[in-house]
Amino acid sequence: MARNPRYDILFEPVKIGPVTARNRFYAVPHAAGMTNAMPHMRAKFRETKAEGGWGVVCTGYVSIDPSSDDAPLPFATLWDDEDIRSHALMTEAVHRHGALAGIELWHGGGSVMNRTSRMATMSPSGTSWMATHVNFMGNQRPRMMDAADIRALLTWQGQAARRAQSAGFDIVYVYAGMGYLPYEFLLPEWNLRTDAYGGSVRNRVRIVRELLEVTREAVGGRCAVALRISLEELRARPSSVAPSEAHEAVELLADVPDLWDVKLDSSPTDCAPSRFAPEGSHEPIIGFVKQLTRRPVVGVGRFTSPDTMVGQIRRGVLDLIGAARPSIADPFLPKKIDEGREQDIRECIGCNICISSWHDSVPVRCTQNPTIGEEWRRDWHPERIAPAGSGASILIVGAGPAGLECALSLGRRGYEVSLAEAGDEIGGRLRFETRLPGLAAWGRVLEWRRGQLERLPNVSLYRGNRLTAEEILELGNTHVVIATGARWARLLYSPLEIPAGALEGPGVLTPDDIAAGAPLEGPVIVYDYDNYYMGSVLAEHLARLGHAVSYVTPAGHASAWAIMSNEQPQIHRALAAAGIALHTLTRVTAFAGGEATLARQFTDEARRLPCRSLVIVGARFANDGLHAALSASPDALAAAGIRSVTRIGDALAPGAIVHAVYSGHRYARELDADPATLAYRRDAPLARQSEGACAARGAAVAAP
Ligand code: ADP
Ligand code: SF4
Repeated sequence: MARNPRYDILFEPVKIGPVTARNRFYAVPHAAGMTNAMPHMRAKFRETKAEGGWGVVCTGYVSIDPSSDDAPLPFATLWDDEDIRSHALMTEAVHRHGALAGIELWHGGGSVMNRTSRMATMSPSGTSWMATHVNFMGNQRPRMMDAADIRALLTWQGQAARRAQSAGFDIVYVYAGMGYLPYEFLLPEWNLRTDAYGGSVRNRVRIVRELLEVTREAVGGRCAVALRISLEELRARPSSVAPSEAHEAVELLADVPDLWDVKLDSSPTDCAPSRFAPEGSHEPIIGFVKQLTRRPVVGVGRFTSPDTMVGQIRRGVLDLIGAARPSIADPFLPKKIDEGREQDIRECIGCNICISSWHDSVPVRCTQNPTIGEEWRRDWHPERIAPAGSGASILIVGAGPAGLECALSLGRRGYEVSLAEAGDEIGGRLRFETRLPGLAAWGRVLEWRRGQLERLPNVSLYRGNRLTAEEILELGNTHVVIATGARWARLLYSPLEIPAGALEGPGVLTPDDIAAGAPLEGPVIVYDYDNYYMGSVLAEHLARLGHAVSYVTPAGHASAWAIMSNEQPQIHRALAAAGIALHTLTRVTAFAGGEATLARQFTDEARRLPCRSLVIVGARFANDGLHAALSASPDALAAAGIRSVTRIGDALAPGAIVHAVYSGHRYARELDADPATLAYRRDAPLARQSEGACAARGAAVAAP
């Protein structure tokens, strides 16, 4: 198919200093959980984006010196010349497909803890970041930087830039965002200095200017020099000479970098979940930058719609369409637009499981794209899959995320697939969950797969078909896949922090009951020890229906795990805005007679709360009855010609949608594969050439 001429503008080359991007698709720096210890995985992961048509593909954050050590969070290093080869693997891979490679050089300042290097951390005035996110808490406070530290910072940046250029990068960053060291100079709360680096905006941006200058000098005109800067806080601060301090800062640096990469200040606002922020949500903050510089500007906003992208360019907001999440969910997004296949774009749903992987310190995972991070170690390609290894027919029971992904991937391989769904509609848990406040975009998991499946004549879908074990035997397919999901349990939570104590009776409900339309009377308690989104989103849903809702959890926060997906700050705001009373560190111990009995988690102090409906959002158990029934009669299976019965998704182990999709995909990849090929390849750091290099350098920087 031909490209829609409306989108031609997206494929215009853009000059960035001495280099030229082939188009306007720019995969911005983003954490992907792959450190220098995984150089092949990292290179292949980024190569796949270049193959998918991105004009620029960047690294994640790369530390310029051991005094910036974010362990256990996964960061890359360019601390000495020995680190160059590891990054060169990526630049060579990216260049093979005609893309430019960018590197985000980084110093974390007072926002890191140097847990591995054990050096004293530093910030402009000794100010530290006192995070509410436990991953970022620590008990090391930074020291105030003196003039020698500032000189050292400039030296490290220059040395790292020179190494970046040797590694083959085309774009080298100065990173003044997200609470890291150069950003700390920008804000007067961090920066209380009275020397030339503190006070006025001109003084506060001085370090950024100097970092840009040393970078330019180091790369000797061969690489573009980019500035990545967070503008949210500065934009909110008045200035006597400009509409805001952000305007003043951009005016002062206007043409110093070759490229402006503009973003917001904290991960929950910059990488905002779709539950609380729409596509393009950065524009009101960063929209002014292009008017103040002649250099190209890149920004993000979970862009997946080519029309929105074109709109941003035509309205003079951005020159380059930046993407982290959309490039994870679909590394081939540019190519699909180029080929007139917009309907094939696997759009990011904004669930932020990807960012949770970084918080978990593991390689990136994605709800929409199960192949991400598996490109090298499992040889999974997002657009290609091996042809069928036999003439087998497969029956998949259940068309939720797991069953749908499994059917699609098996169908693409060419197998004859029957997908049976008990309900009148496909989608499984998504049928209900996408109707909950803020979760409509998650429907893309279903809609994309529905659209793709419709084009596969070898996949037959049977709705309204609740299959029994006997019926499955009669159908006699070669393989049976059980994707029948899971159910929520009516269990309380024991002081041992495990689900225990069944609670049956009128008024005791689970999310499954609400999904099925069970009647409900207020006041309602949503009792959440699942700790992800379901408890808080149901509380919001029930409050919108007009019920008086209290939210009770044994955890310290509402939706405690959602800190990992950047949702928690907004969840607390949403609960407060909906008038929902919050009871943290509290268990429900009994429910009768219009009252629930609560106990404080660590002291057992008891109290009562009026309650007519108790919604328990806690444990889930697999719907694996069909699997058990079929597996119990191997003779009957053999007589029916069924060679295997396999559980996938929630029917195997209940979890988030990301796990169900992955499970379905993995089954499809591995059917008829040689068992010897199923273990994943283990990556390892490249061997260092000289053992002494790092130790010598460490001694040189360890003095403070
Ligand atoms: P997962 O997240 O693992 O895909 P879901 O709960 O979202 O699980 O989806 C499971 C689907 O399986 C639901 O749509 C449900 O209606 C369907 N299902 C459950 N039991 C049967 C059955 N016996 N026959 C056909 N479909 C079933
Ligand atoms: Fe988008 Fe979710 Fe995938 Fe992240 S994990 S890229 S937010 S779909």
